[in-house]
Amino acid sequence: MAKIHYNFPLPKCIGGLTIGRHILIGYSKKSARLPSIKRLIRHEEVHVAQFEECGWNYYWLYLKQWIACGFKYREIPFEQEAYAKEHEQ
Ligand SMILES: [Zn+2]
Repeated sequence: MAKIHYNFPLPKCIGGLTIGRHILIGYSKKSARLPSIKRLIRHEEVHVAQFEECGWNYYWLYLKQWIACGFKYREIPFEQEAYAKEHEQ
């Protein structure tokens, strides 16, 4: 089960970030009603599910994937899964 922390002071280029089961969102709880923020939360929830499947090893696997795809964020398999599933209800 994920815990969402709204109004988290993230850099402007990052809308959301997941650490373990904690989803850090740079927007207010009120904005979570917006379709784009709902999608962002669904994206981050996929990362929580990935974390739950892999445990803390997830971050090591994520790093290895990032290196393997030449540091292209959108080509990281964990990210591709999250982008694919963020549109699902
Ligand atoms: Zn992501």
